[in-house]
This record gives sequence, structure tokens and C-alpha cells, in this order.
Amino acid sequence: MDTVIPLWERPSLPVAGTDARFPVRRIYCVGRNYAAHTLEMGADPTRDLPFFFMKPADALVPDGGHVPYPPATANLHHEIELVAAIAAGGADIPPEAALDHIYGYAVGIDLTRRDLQQVAKDRSWPWAAGKAFDHGAPCGKLHPVSDVGHPTRGAIALKVDGAPRQDGDLSQMIWPVPEIIAALSRLYELVPGDLIYTGTPGGVGPVRPGERLEGEIEGVGTLTVTVGEAE
Ligand code: MN
Repeated sequence: MDTVIPLWERPSLPVAGTDARFPVRRIYCVGRNYAAHTLEMGADPTRDLPFFFMKPADALVPDGGHVPYPPATANLHHEIELVAAIAAGGADIPPEAALDHIYGYAVGIDLTRRDLQQVAKDRSWPWAAGKAFDHGAPCGKLHPVSDVGHPTRGAIALKVDGAPRQDGDLSQMIWPVPEIIAALSRLYELVPGDLIYTGTPGGVGPVRPGERLEGEIEGVGTLTVTVGEAE
């Protein structure tokens, strides 16, 4: 293809155990999917439908990568999350068929400019400035379902410079992965390459320049990134 500006590299994730990569199309994120986090955000955990927001695919940061402290915030927060990667697309996917659409899972961090998100909440603005910023989607290696199955329980935890900050269990999800895929695919046609960040347990908090984030999900893997000075 002849292009009038240089083509950029398609975002992708490494796949554990192989040199092949998983190309990433869209990144969907679920809000408030663990009661402990919903409560710490001052919201009601008994709502009856999941809700979603998005991040750009080029916000991915790989395991071992570096996150420049983002602009326009004084309150960058970590949110450790299980990430599901879609291999087979579809719309109106029933929950009982949803797991068949998943290629694998990874450990992700939904970085959040909490102060900008709060402004958006207060003024009924979209969350984009708080969520969909450059380097805002660290994600570790993708682990195929053939290796890790479909994790539904197990510890999900995050440390900052070695100090425990977040600690929960995958079984605490308000909407398990099949229900997330069912709800999301009623809003958007999912296609191969889509990622879904499935929400965070309690204990979110600020990250400062120079700190190291270490996430781990039992049975899935780990993710480490460092936060740097503003660029
Ligand atoms: Mn989140």
C-alpha cells in the first residue's frame, strides 16, 4: 500500500512459549467488576449490568517495559487485571459459548489518571482522559488456553516496590469472563485481536515516578513495569 504518511507498527503481544505474536486490535475494559474496588471508589456494587470503556491498542506496554509518568495528572493509579484475548469474533455471543472465543490470558495493569477520571465523573464527561492515555495499558505475555485453561479462581495481586498493595481472587469477579463477553458482544462485534481487561480487585492506589509495579495472577503469570519521570 502506498501511504502518504509512514505506516506504524501494529501493536501486538508476545505469546509465551513461542516466537509468534498476537496482534492487538481493540482494548476493552470492564468497570467495577470486584465489590471491594467498587466500594473503595464510592460506588454501589449491586448494579445489574457491566459497563465498558476503551484504551487505544498502542497504549500497550510490554512486560519489563517502562511507563513514562503521564502528563496532566498528579494521581496515577495502578489497577491489576486479568486480560482475556479474543481469537474468534462474534456478536451476541451467549455466555455458554463465550470461552470458545478466547485465545488466552495475560496479566494487565489498567493505569488510571484518577484525578482526571474524578473530574470526568463530577462533570458527566467521558472517561477517556482518565483511562485512554499513552502507555496506559501494560500487559504481560499472553498464555494460550491450551497452557493455562480458563482461570476462574486464584490470587490476583500487585506490589509497588515490593510492598503489597492489591490482593484479591479471580473468583470475586461480579461478572465472570463469559458474562463479560456476552454483554460486550451485545454492544460491539468482537473480532480476533481484541483484548478485554476484566476489572480490578481492591487496593488501588497512587504510583510515583521511579516505582516498580509487579503484578501476579495465580495460574496465569506475572507482569513487571517501572514508572519513570515525565517525558
Ligand atoms: Mn480497571
